[in-house]
Amino acid sequence: MKINPLENLIENLSKLPGIGRKTAQRLAFYIMSMDKLEALKIADSIITLKEKAKYCSVCFNITENEKCEICSNPERQHAVVCVVEEPSNIVLIERTGYRGVYHVLGGTISPQDGITADKLKIKELENRVTFGQIQEIIIATSPNTKGELTAQWIADVLKKYNVRISRIAYGLPIGIDIEFADEVTLSKALEGRKPVNV
Ligand SMILES: [Zn+2]
Repeated sequence: MKINPLENLIENLSKLPGIGRKTAQRLAFYIMSMDKLEALKIADSIITLKEKAKYCSVCFNITENEKCEICSNPERQHAVVCVVEEPSNIVLIERTGYRGVYHVLGGTISPQDGITADKLKIKELENRVTFGQIQEIIIATSPNTKGELTAQWIADVLKKYNVRISRIAYGLPIGIDIEFADEVTLSKALEGRKPVNV
């Protein structure tokens, strides 16, 4: 069977999160009308990303090296770790002027989607607390049900260690995804972090 190239692109684009069939169609038609070189740049950037980018061996941020730029920067406060859901959250928190380091979980606990705690990098976080010189953990998961569940889970896992655990909860509207927080709100959220009761 011959595959229609346009249909093929629509099908592939609609696999992306938040892209329904209609949006995929719109994007595919747009790509069709684009300058060939510009369109090939998009294709090429995906290939480069998949071939070169990997996860930092310490914090699971995206990097081209063994360790990401933040983990290998001696000027960062390595005793303070901000726990986030996805690498994209780091970009947001960096804008607030935060000087500590990070730990990327790779999602949130969501039993209905089959995402249990062992599917996230929680064990790796515990190892960092056990073997590192970490003094404070700031949990910056989204202030929605899954984010709260994940934050509580982490606090429970880490309570036996001598580490301060806080949760950014403050000015963030309850129920939103952290992706949608602006930097002023996020900055206040970091400043106003509260200890987690365990
Ligand atoms: Zn790193």
